[in-house]
Amino acid sequence: MRILKFGGTSVGSAARMRSVADLIQSSEPRIVVLSAMAGTTNSLVAIAKLLFEGEIQAATSQTEILRQHYMMVARELLPEPAIAEEAISQLGTCFKTIFGLMRQPLSASGERVILAQGELLSTLLFHRYLTAIRGQEAVLLPALEFMRLDANDEPDDAYIREHLTQQLAPHTAQALFITQGYICRNAKGDIDNLKRGGSDYSASLIGAAAGADEIQIWTDIDGLHNNDPRVVEGTYPIRELSFDEAAELAYFGAKILHPSSVLPARQYNIPVRLLNTMQPEAPGTLISSKTGSEAIKAVAAKDGLVAIKIKSSRMLLAHGFLRSVFEVFERYRTPIDMITTSEVAVSLTIDDATHLTEILAELRDFGSVEIDENQTIICLVGNLIQENHGSARLVFNALGDIPLRMISYGGSPNNISLLVNTADKMRTLKALNAGLFQRQIFHSDASDD
Ligand code: ADP
Ligand code: ASP
Ligand code: MG
Repeated sequence: MRILKFGGTSVGSAARMRSVADLIQSSEPRIVVLSAMAGTTNSLVAIAKLLFEGEIQAATSQTEILRQHYMMVARELLPEPAIAEEAISQLGTCFKTIFGLMRQPLSASGERVILAQGELLSTLLFHRYLTAIRGQEAVLLPALEFMRLDANDEPDDAYIREHLTQQLAPHTAQALFITQGYICRNAKGDIDNLKRGGSDYSASLIGAAAGADEIQIWTDIDGLHNNDPRVVEGTYPIRELSFDEAAELAYFGAKILHPSSVLPARQYNIPVRLLNTMQPEAPGTLISSKTGSEAIKAVAAKDGLVAIKIKSSRMLLAHGFLRSVFEVFERYRTPIDMITTSEVAVSLTIDDATHLTEILAELRDFGSVEIDENQTIICLVGNLIQENHGSARLVFNALGDIPLRMISYGGSPNNISLLVNTADKMRTLKALNAGLFQRQIFHSDASDD
């Protein structure tokens, strides 16, 4: 079994959906996981926001604009009028659900129902196109019947495996399955989602549950680049990454992958290929248990961090101090991203500030507490310990006089993390690109000659 996931841009128009239909042709069994069409989830987020603000009229007109758009796409994709009208009436159930939620004040669970409509719309359209226009046999698998979170809002692996197997079981003769990314149910059975960008995570979870031999993430760029191509010029794709390297880059901000999406693939050693729908022949990036030899391969950045410093003379020569600090974060279910210590102080970062006030109040029992908001983690990934002949010097030379709030090195063999003010993010990424990668570009250009 092979899993192929197509993101929002890849299914963003009737023409793009036709190209996806070409790309998935094969006699091998496959599960195709689709995102919502580009722009749809943002639109649904905006509609829910208007409803929370009581702007029913504005929410109604925005939903109507979206509905008109889908009618247009359906007519373009399904040129036979009877088929198009039948599909439009099926798409209509999604819009009826949204309009139905406008009758009373929107709840958080109502919002999640609205957000789920994007993937339901895209898969319905694509499935109709394959079966009714291309005459291809394909089964539409309802993700809401097998994709599930447990009571900790983590994927319920056992449930997913059991129910995906049940969904596949009646179709042993079928080779092509289409399903929704992103959407799921939570432990209460209510409609939920895997957070923005979550279709990558769906693909990886489905791959793990189905025992896939490869997971392909098809997107709008030719693989994972060495730096954020939206910020830095002259980035290039990395051909091979280990699971650990890719997991760190995804977690620390490489938008091409959902932060958790590498984990299920790594657990079952399933290779993940990042491929470009607009340039299918490009080799992309292969993520597997193997790693390449470059010392520093890539840089990613994650915004929205808060740095907290706890200074206490009680820490000096004491044991159990860090445990007490960590327990505060555990009580508020707030993950810590980065940590550095000295004899009398510990600095750490969090990206979820929901319980910041309560956490700070408890930490003040230990000593003085200072916070810095608007911080960005810059994560450098590669063979940094084994190949460390001078990589730290290269990094510091590249950084020049950019002020660093924290540095973490040695926590894993393939990562150096730096904490900078978000205001310094752009110049840090550019400086690292100039100092670390220009040499490698020159190097590979020279050896190609
Ligand atoms: P999809 O809709 O297919 O899921 P995304 O927009 O989520 O696509 O992810 C692809 C985008 O991620 C690229 O267009 C690119 O702008 C951005 N991106 C950010 N960092 C990187 C990186 N290091 N390598 C490749 N793309 C990146
Ligand atoms: N449609 C969802 C989003 O826009 C999930 C995804 O595209 O991966 O976040
Ligand atoms: Mg994405």
